[in-house]
Order: sequence, then C-alpha cells, then structure tokens
Amino acid sequence: MSQGKYWNEEIETMPREKLQALQLKRLKEVVKKAYENNRFYRLLYDEAGVHPEDIKSLSDLSKLPFIQKDTVRDAYPYGMLISPIEQCVEMHATSGTTGKSVPVFATRRDLDHWAEVNARELWMVGLRPGDILQNAYGYGLPTGGFGFHYGAMKLGAMVIPTGTGQTQRQIETIMDYGVTAICMTPSYAQYLGQKALEQGIDLTKQSKLKIGLFGAEPWPLATRYKIEELLGITAYDEFGMTEFLGPGMSCECEARQGMHTWADTFLVECINPETGQPVPDGQEGELVWTWLTSEGTAMIRYRSRDLSSVCWEDCPCGRTHPKIAPIKGRTDDAVVIGGLIVFPSQIEDILGSFPEIGANFRLYVDRNVRGLDYFTLSIELKEYGLLEKGELLSLLQRCIREKIKNVIGLLPQNISFVAPDALPRVTSGEGKTASARLEDRRK
Ligand SMILES: [Zn+2]
Repeated sequence: MSQGKYWNEEIETMPREKLQALQLKRLKEVVKKAYENNRFYRLLYDEAGVHPEDIKSLSDLSKLPFIQKDTVRDAYPYGMLISPIEQCVEMHATSGTTGKSVPVFATRRDLDHWAEVNARELWMVGLRPGDILQNAYGYGLPTGGFGFHYGAMKLGAMVIPTGTGQTQRQIETIMDYGVTAICMTPSYAQYLGQKALEQGIDLTKQSKLKIGLFGAEPWPLATRYKIEELLGITAYDEFGMTEFLGPGMSCECEARQGMHTWADTFLVECINPETGQPVPDGQEGELVWTWLTSEGTAMIRYRSRDLSSVCWEDCPCGRTHPKIAPIKGRTDDAVVIGGLIVFPSQIEDILGSFPEIGANFRLYVDRNVRGLDYFTLSIELKEYGLLEKGELLSLLQRCIREKIKNVIGLLPQNISFVAPDALPRVTSGEGKTASARLEDRRK
C-alpha cells in the first residue's frame, strides 16, 4: 500500500472502468446476500418482480426498489441484518430524534474496512504518522467518534479521544499536547476558536494545529473562512451517515471542490426527488446510497433525502472516485417547481436583504391549465405607510424578481405586498420556519 501522496494508491487512482467493474461485482454480491439472508429484502424484491440474477450491469440497479428511513425503521431492531448477529462485533445507531433510531451492525471485516476508508480520508487531508488528532466527535451510538478514531489508528497517528463538550479542556489539550489536527462539528470549531481568543490564546500562532476535518452539519463558506482564521488551519468538509457507519463516506481532497466518495465501498446515485429518475452528472438532486462492502447491515438504494449532486469529472488530485457537492439541504425542506429545486429558505434569505420587508411571507406553488408549475409570493411590509408608496413598491418588486431569478433560476409569476401582520403566523418553532411558509396548492 501507500505511502506517498495516497493512502491506497491502487484503489484511489483506479481507472473509472475498473472501478465500475468492481462496483458491479460487489453490487451483485451484496444484493444476492441480502436476498438470501434477509426477509425484508426478499419480500421487497419479490414484490417488485426483481431477482439478484437480473443485475447484469450497473444500470440494472434502477430495477431495485428504493428503501428509505421509514422502511428501515420498521425493520427495527434486527430487520436489516444480512449476517447472523453472532458475527457482528459492534453496533451503532442514529440519534433517533425523529422516531425510533436506526441501528447499524458491523462485523470484524466491516470495522476493518471502516478504518481503511477513514485512513484514506485522513491521509488525503494531510494527516501522517506522528500527527496528533484531537477527536471531539461523540463516542457513543452515533458513529463520528469511532470512525475517525479507527482511521487515525490505522494510519499511525495518535488519537486523543476528547469527545464532545468541555471546551476549556479541549483548548488545554490542543495547547498542552501539541495537537496538530482536529475533527468536530464546524459550529463547535467556531465556538472553540472564539472561546480561546477570549482567553487571550491565539491558536493560529500559539498552537501546532494545521488540519481540521468538519462535518455532520451543513456549513457555509463563510464559516469555513472563519474557522480557518480562528484556528490557523486548513479546513476540510467531510460527509457520512450513521446508517452507513458514518465517517469515511466522502471527504474533500486538497482541491476542495467537492467530496470524493469511495466508489469501491459506496455506490452513489443522484435522482430527481419527485420522479425517482436519475439526473445527469453534476445536476442537483437527491442522493441515493448503496453500501457495497457491508457484511452486517444491508443498505441498498437508500434514499438519503439529502440534496447534492454527483460528478465523475477528473480531479487535479489524481483520485478517480466521484465527488459529491456539499449537502445543500433536505428534500423535506424543499419544493420542486418546474423541475427546479427551491428552498423557501432561499426566498427568506433574499427578502432579508431588503430593509422595507417585514419578517413574514408566503410562497404559493400552483399548476396552470397547461400543466406548468408557477409560484407567487405574498410579502409583508415592515410598515403600513409603505403600502401607499406605489413607486417604491414597484422598484422593490423588480429588485426582488431579479434576485430570485439569479439565485433560483425561476421568476415568480406575481409578487404582492401586504400589510404587516396580514399573513398567518408560522408557529413551527423548530428552526424550519421557512418551509412552513410554503403552500403547495398543486395537489
Ligand atoms: Zn480530488
């Protein structure tokens, strides 16, 4: 194996044709294993009239029905197993904030492979033997802590498993032990950097930090710059889902133009969330994942509800594995209008830049008699007096239309302004108020 630029050069730079041949071989194996050993998959595939023998090429993947969180949750607790439980040596589970948690079971080989993909990622962002990694992800049922831990150990770096919280001790650990790399959520990294600064510690000059690996939540570019400025590191984006053992699924290389997804381990598709049909390379859609190497838990065509895109283009780093774009949001929070994915939060952001606009708006989506989608906006003004300023309102209307066209790629058919407090209040209170302002009248 390695150890120049790549952790596992043979796999990481494997020509696409060879990589896809490997994907097909592993896909056939896992589908067969799931069909033969798992009642849920057997019923699902029998019902769809598809048999493992029908998978002859990667495009045959579309013959297999999707699975999603609800289905997997119904199989709780042991329903997704494809090996006897006696062969599993570790279990993790999603946090279960929106219902029963989803467990994932790993055999010895699953754990070895998990360490391998995490070692690849850590090597890719510059970690080497001799480095000290402070791991401030949770060590528990969710997988963040353990994934990076196993990967760093395999690579030969030293791990300090601080786990989450205890900011004071995190800062002291960074300083006292000469920590060179950290991983944690981006929001916590920013918090930690600010706390250090408040104590007069300039991590950029006084610590040995150089690398940071961040994930588990979407973070805008502005947060990346802020973290890099506060901690004096290069920050990399990482993506994983607990259902697939989490960390080790996708990570940025030095080019930082999307996250490489390990195609020998995961097969990622990008679909139109409404039709379920694949979208072209580079186009936005919902990610669907298949775990090719798993022995314990089978995840075949799992709809993630994450919006992103998949691109197989050549990367300057020389790795051949496809890249996914940063996760933009969840399909639950988005609406598809005329084939384009629109987040009510995008409209909220746009309106927020106009001081004349109040805090509330309504986004209506309709379909006309020719079957074409369109949307209209009803927007509260900040003051009653503005309702009489016709000239200002038409200027405002033009500016908002222009901005929406630039950001979303669609023009609203109509924008109307209403008095403050004229629209129903949004009471969801769960931080997703923007999507609660959407009214889809097409159904
Ligand atoms: Zn790359």
